[in-house]
Amino acid sequence: MTATATFWRPLPNGQVACDLCPVGCRLRPGQEGPCASRANRDGAMALLSYGRIVSAAVDPIEKKPLYHFHPGRDILSVAAPGCNLHCLFCQNWSISQKAGTRTQPVSPEELVDAALRSGGVGLAFTYSEPLVWYEFVRDTASLARAAGLKNVLVTNGFLNEEPLAGLLPLIDAANIDLKSMEDRFYRRICRARLGPVLDAIRQFHAAGVHIELTNLVIPGHNDADEQINDLVDWVADLDPEIPLHFSAYHPAWKMKAPATPPETLRRAYGIARKVLPWVYLGNLKAAEGSDTVCPGCGFTLIARTGFHAESRLQGKPACPSCGRPVPIVLD
Ligand code: SF4
Repeated sequence: MTATATFWRPLPNGQVACDLCPVGCRLRPGQEGPCASRANRDGAMALLSYGRIVSAAVDPIEKKPLYHFHPGRDILSVAAPGCNLHCLFCQNWSISQKAGTRTQPVSPEELVDAALRSGGVGLAFTYSEPLVWYEFVRDTASLARAAGLKNVLVTNGFLNEEPLAGLLPLIDAANIDLKSMEDRFYRRICRARLGPVLDAIRQFHAAGVHIELTNLVIPGHNDADEQINDLVDWVADLDPEIPLHFSAYHPAWKMKAPATPPETLRRAYGIARKVLPWVYLGNLKAAEGSDTVCPGCGFTLIARTGFHAESRLQGKPACPSCGRPVPIVLD
C-alpha cells in the first residue's frame, strides 16, 4: 500500500528535507529517517510504515492511560514500528527502536471495520509513536470519525505545529507524555527538546482535544521534589483540570537505573495533589492512586481494579454526592 508523504521539500543533489517533526531531518538519497517511518527514495519522501502494523489489541481505555474519557470502555489499539524520540528508558523499545520489526499489511478500511466489530469506543494509535505514522493515522482517523468512532493518540507530542494542526480536528482524546520539565533531560536522554512538546500540549488543549498527561518517574533523573513541582505547576497553569498520571518506570532498553519504588510515586502524588485535583498512579502492583475521587467531598466516582473501572457517575459528568462538575467524557 502506498500513499503520498506530506510535509517534505526537495533539496539540491537529490536530498529531501522533512518538516513533519522538530528533528528536521535532511535525508540523502536512500537514507532513512531515525524515526524509521520515512526515507528518501530517488529524491522523494517515501512512507515506510503506511498500511503496516506491528501490534493490534483490544485494550481497556484505562490502559492508555485515559481515565476521564469513556471510562470502562474498550478501544482497538494499534501501532506501526518507529519513533522520532530515542529515550534510553523506552518501555516499548522492541517496536519503537528496533530495526526490521515484522509488520502486517492493513488498510484504513480494515482497521475501521475491526474497530466497529470490536464493540469498543474507537481506535487508539499507541504503543510506539503515532505522530510519525502521520498520513496513515490521518486517513484512518478520518474514516473512523465518519463511522462514528472516537480517535485517540498516545504520543510524545513531538510534532511541528502545522502538521499537528492538520491532524487535531480528527482527534478526540490524547494521552501525551510530559517526561520532564528540563530541556537537558529531553536532549540527553531522549534526543529531543522540551519546548516543542510544551507547544504541542498547548496546541492539543487549545484545539479542544480531551488530554491527559503522563510522567514516567525515573529515579535519579526526574524524581526530585523540585522537578515534580515544576511539572505540576506548569500543568496547573495550563489547566488544573487536566488529569496527570505518574507512572512507574522499569529498567528497559539502555536505562539500567532501578525500578521506581512505590514510595517515590506516593511522594509525587502528594506533591501534585496539593495543586491538581486529578492525579493518578500507574504501573504499580497495588491499585493505589487509580480511583477517581471527587476533590470536593471525597466520594469515589470511579473505582478501579487493575484496568477494570466501576463508575458511580449517574450518566452525568458531576459528583452524585456534592454536585461538583467532573471533567469526564461519558458515552
Ligand atoms: S518525522 Fe522522521 S524523518 Fe521527519 S524530521 Fe522527524 S525524525 Fe526526521
